[in-house]
Amino acid sequence: MNGQSDKDITWVCHKCNQNLALKKVKVRYLEGNFEVELMKCTKCNMVYIGEDLALGKMLEVEKGLEDK
Ligand SMILES: [Zn+2]
Repeated sequence: MNGQSDKDITWVCHKCNQNLALKKVKVRYLEGNFEVELMKCTKCNMVYIGEDLALGKMLEVEKGLEDK
């Protein structure tokens, strides 16, 4: 139960049509700096943030599920 199925998804940069690689990226959130692994295009260095990482949205999603 650790959500491994996410790793099976192949991410592709829509701009370069290049496969994304999992890279450690520094992220600033509130007062802190975090290092998280995000999908990054090795060609244009664009970082893709998954919807589950869109901070705050996660809680909304969980709530929605409970309401049903
Ligand atoms: Zn790219």
